[in-house]
Amino acid sequence: EAKSRGKSTWVRYTDEMGARIGAEAVLIAELAQALEADEFELLYQPIVRLDDDVLTGVEALIRWNHPTRGVVSPVEFIPTAERTGQIVEIGRWALIEACRQAADWRRHYPAAEYLTVGVNVAGRQLRTPGFAAEVAAVLTETGLPAGCLSVEVTETAVLDDEESNEAMIALRALGVKLALDDFGTAASSLGLLLTCPVTTLKLDRSFVESITTVGRQAAVSTAVSQMANALEFASVAEGIETEDQRSLLQGLGYQYGQGYLFSRPVPADRIGDLWAAATPVPAEAAG
Ligand code: C2E
Ligand code: MG
Ligand code: MG
Ligand code: MG
Repeated sequence: EAKSRGKSTWVRYTDEMGARIGAEAVLIAELAQALEADEFELLYQPIVRLDDDVLTGVEALIRWNHPTRGVVSPVEFIPTAERTGQIVEIGRWALIEACRQAADWRRHYPAAEYLTVGVNVAGRQLRTPGFAAEVAAVLTETGLPAGCLSVEVTETAVLDDEESNEAMIALRALGVKLALDDFGTAASSLGLLLTCPVTTLKLDRSFVESITTVGRQAAVSTAVSQMANALEFASVAEGIETEDQRSLLQGLGYQYGQGYLFSRPVPADRIGDLWAAATPVPAEAAG
């Protein structure tokens, strides 16, 4: 829009902008207190093997139980926390909490032995010096095997970036899995898949959403699954809401699925109930 107005990119400072800046300042101040006040919580969303609906893992998704606003979605505070750098501390908390919880499930439920717990890691956090060493320490302290952790990063976070590439290589050396999240949404070069040491592609929900109605979305989903299979990456389709989407994606060769059709993100004890009811799967079958 600024471009269409010529060289000048001046915009009038409005009350609305003032309010927005004020709100962001409040958010930043509140975020700074939230960890200490123990206001963050992790919910976990099941990830199932599409062939037989076996629960193979979960993704940890952060929630902020705000004292007055109620539950705040990560989309409302993660971008700000990334900008301010607060994501580094928040992300560290989430990593420790998710690994502790996953190790606990493994100790209590035989079906959880080969589980994978996905933890979202922001680009800023991944690039923090010593990040891989920190992950190694968390694994040791919690007793979670490296192969049970999947670090989820987005393409934009890792695109053409020397520091994140080194961090990813170090994580892989530990034996941690590495998932490219929201795959297909960024203006990425496919060459990234050859240089970036990922183990898993997570097809973005936006493709799944219209896969049964829009041919072009289906074509992209097909290409992503073929690529994943050819390059021997695991493939997860996220945001599956209907039986039609599920069977289409399974037919396209997606190995794992995640979405409201199976379960919404739920508190840890609900996942414990699922592990308690599940039959153990052999190691090579677990995602
Ligand atoms: P994501 O990593 O792509 O996580 C998947 C998002 O899709 C989650 O939203 C999940 O609740 C939602 N979802 C799953 N299945 C369905 C479905 O069938 N339909 C619909 N409509 N949505 C579905 P959520 O929990 O709001 O998280 C949003 C994003 O916030 C995440 O996207 C991730 O990028 C970020 N995030 C969440 N937790 C963390 C965290 O601990 N650290 C960082 N850095 N980012 C996080
Ligand atoms: Mg994710
Ligand atoms: Mg995702
Ligand atoms: Mg997403």
